[in-house]
Amino acid sequence: MSSVLVYALHNNGVINKNSLGAISEGSRVAGELGGQCDVVVVGGADLTNDVLAALGNYGAKKVYKVDGAEGLSQPVIDAMAQLVGANGYNYALFGGGLLGFEIGAGLAARLDAGVTMEVTAINVDGGKAVAERPILGDSQISISKYRSDLGIIIGRINAFEVKESGGTAEVEDLAVTFSEWTSRATMVTRGEQRGADINIEDAKVLVAGGRGLGAAEGFQLCEDLAESLGGAVAATRAVVDAGWFPYAGQIGQTGKTVAPKLYLAAGISGAIQHKVGMQGSENIIAINKDANAPIFEFSDLGIVGDLNAILPKLTEAIKAKKGS
Ligand SMILES: Cc1cc2nc3c(=O)[nH]c(=O)nc-3n(C[C@H](O)[C@H](O)[C@H](O)COP(=O)(O)OP(=O)(O)OC[C@H]3O[C@@H](n4cnc5c(N)ncnc54)[C@H](O)[C@@H]3O)c2cc1C
Repeated sequence: MSSVLVYALHNNGVINKNSLGAISEGSRVAGELGGQCDVVVVGGADLTNDVLAALGNYGAKKVYKVDGAEGLSQPVIDAMAQLVGANGYNYALFGGGLLGFEIGAGLAARLDAGVTMEVTAINVDGGKAVAERPILGDSQISISKYRSDLGIIIGRINAFEVKESGGTAEVEDLAVTFSEWTSRATMVTRGEQRGADINIEDAKVLVAGGRGLGAAEGFQLCEDLAESLGGAVAATRAVVDAGWFPYAGQIGQTGKTVAPKLYLAAGISGAIQHKVGMQGSENIIAINKDANAPIFEFSDLGIVGDLNAILPKLTEAIKAKKGS
């Protein structure tokens, strides 16, 4: 019997969506392994027991509530190490994001455990969990099996689907003995990334940027055009991973699915994983300097050329037409 321990990140009394996905996935995997999926949360005076018990709806059996600084890695590492030591969990699972990377790496060092990051799928083989991670620019899949007693699995953002299964979890307050260095870092402030509040699903016009923009600053061209059209800006996974644009704006298999009236793709190759998130758009316009780019195969209008020359001219023309 193998059990899974999931770390749930929260902010302002709300559990993070990627953590809910990790709980759903942890519960599925634990079920196949004949064990159970438990959850640990650290800090959160604003987290009620009702919110924590409701994690049972995603498959959690027990939720450990730890009093400590929230949003920092060391208190969570202390809490998870203590729980693994006491209860013998076989897998520690995270929904992804920078904090998950930091906690996972710290826990791996602390417990001498194997760790896999950017995991997009978990399978069960021979009674053990096996993690799949895309590598080499997502062109290949690497398979991770664990030799250590504990396997640490850190998901890619949005890789694990949130699934509601019904049920209520038992909530238990857990006293943790924190390491001497744990209190040395304090949380000064927490905030959202630029654009984290953008609502791309409801936008009628989307201007999406890809690696062809060349740098984060290139998104200004998309923002200007989107503003002139009264639309919003979106992005590919490649640029989101590069830190050029917030995850909230990612379109595709592991991002959001959209169907605006107009989808303008600038510097986007048109990979299948991107296509599945935007192919329902009413009109697709693509700007790409490569005439053989796959995106032209499913565009209504294709413009072959340099986006740096085309986007500003387009913005200017639209503004002139609107008289603004
Ligand atoms: C499991 C899995 C899940 C994935 N999920 C997603 C997902 O949800 N969303 C997603 O988008 N991707 C996803 N991917 C990644 C996907 O496979 C592609 O790697 C990604 O979409 C490519 O992004 P891109 O088009 O920005 O970059 P690239 O493929 O590098 O394309 C850049 C394009 O810009 C063009 N270009 C360069 N310079 C200029 C210029 N000056 N003017 C005009 N054009 C120019 C190039 O010709 C090229 O076609 C996933 C992959 C895997 C394996």
